[in-house]
Amino acid sequence: MKAIQVAQTGGPEVLTVVDLPVPAPKVNEAIVKIEAAGVNFIDVYFREGRYPSPLPFINGQEAAGTVTEVGSEVTNLKAGDRVAYTSALGSYAEYAAVPAVRLVKIPDALSFEQAAAAMLQGMTAHYLLYSTYKLQKGETALVHAAAGGVGLLLVQMAKKIGASVIATAGTEEKAQLARDAGADQCIIYTQADFETETRRLTNDEGVHVVYDGVGKATFDKDLNVLRPRGYLVLFGGASGAVPPFDLIKLSQKGSLFITRPTLGHYTATREELEWRAGEVLQMIVDGDLKLRIHHVYPLADAAQAHRDLEGRKTTGKLLLKP
Ligand code: NDP
Repeated sequence: MKAIQVAQTGGPEVLTVVDLPVPAPKVNEAIVKIEAAGVNFIDVYFREGRYPSPLPFINGQEAAGTVTEVGSEVTNLKAGDRVAYTSALGSYAEYAAVPAVRLVKIPDALSFEQAAAAMLQGMTAHYLLYSTYKLQKGETALVHAAAGGVGLLLVQMAKKIGASVIATAGTEEKAQLARDAGADQCIIYTQADFETETRRLTNDEGVHVVYDGVGKATFDKDLNVLRPRGYLVLFGGASGAVPPFDLIKLSQKGSLFITRPTLGHYTATREELEWRAGEVLQMIVDGDLKLRIHHVYPLADAAQAHRDLEGRKTTGKLLLKP
């Protein structure tokens, strides 16, 4: 089978097409013939070595496809089942061996592409809004990079809850996508100072919560746009990792809270995974959550997909098609 391997960490050029045997399942695994694999910013961190993995590895941790074979202890799945998953490394490939406990069945109404596009970013938006900081109707949230994969889903789900959303985006075109997704206001933070604008838009009161996947470039100002006892939910570092931080600033700036959550801890049990995946996939079936597929790349073009994602050229979801 064809797969995209990383033998040494580095830039997009280290993503190499290789020929490998189709994996055989361990007792608790299923083999999935992949129809669509999601590209996510976390794949960049693994490729760079920011998140370490033993080498070589097959990049990617999200896909949808068909079960071809199951291990001897797998009872809830059989060959032919349509499934999707996230949080298991190795999805940039034609086949992957996946722990059965990570696989969820895809509703008949959804395509493989929709399912692959929804699992990681959809469940991320879900846990950030419903569990990390439980956003309430009438509250105001600031969502950074709102035209991105996670961003567009965060905006839609926050509006469904009944919150006000101030979005940021890098260009006017992206800002329009954020508005179309429901954002009440959108700040083009490459042109205007988002701190000044957010304070102005909230009559100097600040927001209840900031959802920030941009990190290094936005972190300091995030602390200045929160109301007292507000929450900074720092869930990624697309612009770089946030440097070490003096906790006394949280007190000085209003007894603030900061958390740095990860999807794995919010889908750790089968029950929680099924709840989140079920709700997200159902929202798509019902038309309450719209997916924006930026582009579907051939598997061999994974490096180009990474260049586009890192180059801030994309909006919504990037997929690879084996
Ligand atoms: P996006 O589609 O959001 O792409 C990243 C976006 O970040 C860009 O389009 C760009 O939007 C913005 N950005 C701002 N500064 C930079 C920069 N210097 N370089 C690159 N991009 C920049 O990606 P994803 O939806 O896949 O991920 C968004 C974030 O969410 C990432 O940080 C990712 O790690 C994190 N994440 C965290 C999870 C968790 O559980 N903790 C799970 C899933 C994702 P613009 O041009 O509008 O600024």
